[in-house]
Amino acid sequence: MQNDPSLAFSWCAESGLSALTPLPMFRSCLAESYQQRTHEAVSLVKRHLESVSQPFSGVTPAELSPEVRDIDLSQPLASSSDVLDELSRVYLRDAVYFHHPRYVAHLNCPVALPAVTAETIQAAINTSVDTWDQSAGATLIEQKLVDWTIGRIGLGENADGIFTSGGTQSNLMGMLLARDNYALRYLGGYSIKEKGLPACAHRFRIFTSEYSHFSVCKAAAMLGLGYDSVVPVAGDSAFRMDVKALSEAIHDAQMQDLIPLAVVATAGTTDFGSVDPLPAIAEICEQNHIWMHVDAAYGCGLLVSQKYNSLIGGIEFADSVTVDFHKSFFQPVACSGFFARDKSHLNVVTHHADYLNPLSAAQEGTPDLVNKSIQTTRRFDALKLWMTLREVGAEGIGKEFDAVIDSARAFHRWMETLEDVECLHEPSISAIVFRYLPANATEGDTLNECNRQIRKALFSGGAALIAGTKVKGAQYLKFTVLNSETSMEDIQYIIGQIRTIGAGLWERLNAADVNSVESSK
Ligand SMILES: *Cc1c(COP(=O)(O)O)cnc(C)c1O
Repeated sequence: MQNDPSLAFSWCAESGLSALTPLPMFRSCLAESYQQRTHEAVSLVKRHLESVSQPFSGVTPAELSPEVRDIDLSQPLASSSDVLDELSRVYLRDAVYFHHPRYVAHLNCPVALPAVTAETIQAAINTSVDTWDQSAGATLIEQKLVDWTIGRIGLGENADGIFTSGGTQSNLMGMLLARDNYALRYLGGYSIKEKGLPACAHRFRIFTSEYSHFSVCKAAAMLGLGYDSVVPVAGDSAFRMDVKALSEAIHDAQMQDLIPLAVVATAGTTDFGSVDPLPAIAEICEQNHIWMHVDAAYGCGLLVSQKYNSLIGGIEFADSVTVDFHKSFFQPVACSGFFARDKSHLNVVTHHADYLNPLSAAQEGTPDLVNKSIQTTRRFDALKLWMTLREVGAEGIGKEFDAVIDSARAFHRWMETLEDVECLHEPSISAIVFRYLPANATEGDTLNECNRQIRKALFSGGAALIAGTKVKGAQYLKFTVLNSETSMEDIQYIIGQIRTIGAGLWERLNAADVNSVESSK
């Protein structure tokens, strides 16, 4: 009987240690139950891990939604094993599995086991890293990893940072710091934090390449500057920011009495993995006194790379940096960071609350991380990176990323030899943008539709998941390689599928075209 975790609360009650409520809690008298439930959950995931044969089942929203809809939330199952059985049906059976070697779609990495273990620990202890008095050691661990990352970036002695929920939040912080510190420095100590936007804010401009992440525009909107404040800078033939175009755009803005506030450079664009020319951009920013933010959400793995570290050279000149450990450090979501060259620039997000992080605590030197964050209650996401680093070191993570980059390059070389596949670029990290291009094809709607439908057909089969994107109006397909287990055979299988599906579609689409031309006569 003691083996049934659903009865845990009653033996707790029997021992007289706890109130009689039906909610099983994480508490000392239920330590056995805690262990048993965790084992059960892990066993369930293990069974799925061993049996998953493709990244996705191909289930449609119409097929799956009744399963969820028909569950009556007012009728709890009472037994934890029944809950797990149900969860298999509504979630695990049809989940999208990023660890599968034929998942090459978005920037989702397979995750490192030490990090998965860390998640189990952090979920149970439930530390919040906002103040020292809620975290103790966790604060020190996070700060040490912040300092470690700063060392890897090369931001210098005066830098500081904070873990965030993702690249989107980190990019928002980058632009927030740029905006507020501009006003403090160049508008006579004007504090946007206290007074709101100054009258000239509608003249603020942020420069970023046309291939940068959409979170740059979102951040501008949230900061009260609007999409119109973002100036898209043309890319070069390798999809990097064109520095000549950047210089001209800044010059044009100055001529029109606009205020260049920040340049957001990307180290690893989401679509192409291209790295903007950071040293040249840094020089332009320095000459014009413009804040330089580097979005290394994707490219941050290069910081620990043995072979490709030089690709991210120049990041050390940034005023602020976004790092997504949950993309190229093989960490589970969420694990991300924001780093600023000058720690005093983080003061613009500091607010002292008497009940939480009083000024007196800061003056006594209490390390309250909330002083640097736009969140309050915050998960101890640093623990994942800590446990990964402590087990395998930076070298372990870097070698995994190098293997992924090597694979992507090999896949690209092979794809270049195919007559009916057109590659759009040399992969600088591990993204490969390409399209199916049959021999007699011409640019246009039919070709775009064919490539769009290839991706849809693959998704509904579920045997391989790939991504798609549009470049200058044309539809392309994309592999984002982040799994060192993805082999040449996997890629050959996927390309084989693309060609078979593509050939059928191409024939049908052209026949349909002829028919529609005939019928419109
Ligand atoms: C993924 C990505 C982001 C957004 O990061 P999230 O962690 O998804 O919020 C920002 N910039 C780039 C270049 C990205 O690839």
